[in-house]
Amino acid sequence: MAEPGDQPDPEVVAAEEVALVDRPLSLVDHDHRWMGEALAMAEKALAIGELPIGAVVVVDGRVVGRAFTQEATQGRLLVHAELLALDQADRMISVRKGPAVLYTTLEPCLMCLGAASVAVIKRVVFALDSEGDGAGELSRLWDEHRSGGDIPHLRLPPVEGGVRAEESRELFARFVAGRPSPADPLARWAATLVVAAGDVSAGGDEAECEAHAEPEA
Ligand SMILES: [Zn+2]
Repeated sequence: MAEPGDQPDPEVVAAEEVALVDRPLSLVDHDHRWMGEALAMAEKALAIGELPIGAVVVVDGRVVGRAFTQEATQGRLLVHAELLALDQADRMISVRKGPAVLYTTLEPCLMCLGAASVAVIKRVVFALDSEGDGAGELSRLWDEHRSGGDIPHLRLPPVEGGVRAEESRELFARFVAGRPSPADPLARWAATLVVAAGDVSAGGDEAECEAHAEPEA
């Protein structure tokens, strides 16, 4: 078993609602700060061989869920960082007392964006674009084609990207550097994230876009 804090034990983390000091900060400051928490989780994931994807759920200046992706650790497909963080937050009554924001170091997939909607997350903020499987754009399209007015769980939360993207990209670069095999589908997929915007077409099409939803073969 790892040291407490090295890996997020869902039971333990769910039980510790981490209160942080409230001070007058702009939305940009808040986003920067909380993305730092998500990046810290991604760093921990990288340290144990997972893809560097971390997420936190924040309500009223408190972290009520934090996780990193655990697909390799658990050998399961659904244990994305965002879903695990949302699952922790869902056990906290405080989530329903104030607007919850999901911060994640990579543009969320369709599953996690859907889970954020069901959890009535008010806003999703991510760092790095995921051209292959990122579902951020669906938020706008969904609202254009749905009726439901202001019923929260019938809407997808607004999704904003680019917060501390370079730091997330650097973590993926380290992941790729640590897995030099050209046959490694996870590394190939991660490499598409590392490529700077504008150069994404170079290799993005043939990459395994869903690779991060799959444990190591
Ligand atoms: Zn996901």
